[in-house]
Amino acid sequence: KLHNTILELKGNIRVFCRVRPLLSDDACAPEMKVISFPTAMESLERGIDLSQNGQKHSFTFDKVFMPDASQEDVFVEISQLVQSALDGYKVCIFAYGQTGSGKTYTMMGKPGNSDQKGLIPRTLEQVFETKQTLQSQGWRYEMQVSMLEIYNETIRDLLPSRTDGGKQYAIKHDANGNTHVSDLTIVDVCSSREVSYLLERAAQSRSVGKTQMNEQSSRSHFVFTLRILGVNESTEQQVQGVLNLIDLAGSERLSKSGSTGDRLKETQAINKSLSSLSDVIFALAKKEEHVPFRNSKLTYLLQPCLGGDSKTLMFVNISPDPTSTGESLCSLRFAARVN
Ligand code: ADP
Ligand code: MG
Repeated sequence: KLHNTILELKGNIRVFCRVRPLLSDDACAPEMKVISFPTAMESLERGIDLSQNGQKHSFTFDKVFMPDASQEDVFVEISQLVQSALDGYKVCIFAYGQTGSGKTYTMMGKPGNSDQKGLIPRTLEQVFETKQTLQSQGWRYEMQVSMLEIYNETIRDLLPSRTDGGKQYAIKHDANGNTHVSDLTIVDVCSSREVSYLLERAAQSRSVGKTQMNEQSSRSHFVFTLRILGVNESTEQQVQGVLNLIDLAGSERLSKSGSTGDRLKETQAINKSLSSLSDVIFALAKKEEHVPFRNSKLTYLLQPCLGGDSKTLMFVNISPDPTSTGESLCSLRFAARVN
């Protein structure tokens, strides 16, 4: 029996595991059940077991959400992190997992269904509500949003005012830990409704890419960034927080024989950036001197929001479908490494 136990939080990095429910088109004979949850008190809500070929693999995370966990249940566990961005911290929340495991459901939710709203819309509601509440204590906040996609190590602006041709999107970090991406559209926002509109525009922009480029949306990383600048009018205190919400590219490994040409290049780019992300988080958790931020666009872009006193949360999304067991095991191992 393999056992991967993560007993305590390492620094500011946490890993939550979420198992989505079985869907009607999953292969779902009950005797093929591969995922189970420990009932022992000490691992309740933190443990997950996965059986493969008669062997049980046990994992422990900071939190495990079972298939019946609602979007609200999940949000309750991250709202503190959202609050820290308003207090001036840099925060990254990632969704990692194979295509179909529930990353986009976790981040965005189901459009048009308010119970099933995901983390991004809930986060925005909380941010703008808190902004309102803190006004009475003299706080004035300015918020800016940008949204981009990283596909084959190339950045694409999802809110371009004009066509994107010839733009470089060069990433620069200044001495204050602020990130600038040249030519990237940054929009000042005052309400969660405005951001909803921008999210729709971004989704539109992604789905155009999808038909042109072979399901691009599951093959690219989606990065939503909210910059928060707060000034207290009576105390003159200032805070500068950043919240990055990232729907990562599908982590599935394509069968080696089947991938050639563009598809192979895509897979290599995805594997490279996901393994770079894992290397960076691992190095940070181990407090290693050298953190290999520059090995991928994603880690370089997020560098100031991953190191230092920033806070990182990784969701590892798992499908309970027996045909996904191999991929689920890879995802759980990935997450256990960075935890
Ligand atoms: P991914 O983004 O990882 O490819 P999706 O978020 O698109 O996966 O999820 C795949 C399907 O599963 C979608 O139809 C989604 O609505 C559904 N789904 C995912 N997670 C849940 C959940 N927790 N509850 C209900 N349906 C879910
Ligand atoms: Mg998705």
